[in-house]
Amino acid sequence: MLDLNSDWVRLPPAEAIDWFARKMRFSTEQLQSLTKLYDDQVFTVAGLEDDRLLEAARQGIEDALKSGGTLTDFKKSMDAAFSAAGVDPLDPWHLETVFRTNLGQAYNAGAKAQGLDPAVMEALPFWAQQTAGDGEVRPEHERFALDHPTWPKTDEALTAESDAILNKINCRCIRFSTATAEG
Ligand SMILES: [Zn+2]
Repeated sequence: MLDLNSDWVRLPPAEAIDWFARKMRFSTEQLQSLTKLYDDQVFTVAGLEDDRLLEAARQGIEDALKSGGTLTDFKKSMDAAFSAAGVDPLDPWHLETVFRTNLGQAYNAGAKAQGLDPAVMEALPFWAQQTAGDGEVRPEHERFALDHPTWPKTDEALTAESDAILNKINCRCIRFSTATAEG
């Protein structure tokens, strides 16, 4: 099982990078005016309105996706961007949330795009979902993984329910393709 608590050091699939590159940047205010439907296409950082800093954050995460950069690298580049802009840095917890949430979503979006490829559908017809398995897992995430350790990819309603959970802030759950049903 993947350890999502450590820094991200592996390269996500190319689809994850494409997905992230397509994300757009909006201020929190602009975001509020958008419907929930677009939530997963928007890059925003709570409390961060400055365009240059938002771009620095987006770029930092894209770099991490492309070259396997770590949370430490991301924090360093963000501290430099904030200092260059003459702005107080975001606290480390906030930066970690931004990093973890965006990379997690990019990874899961990439895994979904790959998993729905017809050849993969045939060989691995089920989705599996797992939590990070520690004391910080939220009840809703725990319940979904317990109730649905695997489900057929053809069950779009359940996949949508899974998407909604994976898109939550700070979610560390992973979903991946698997050959056999469990439970
Ligand atoms: Zn989760």
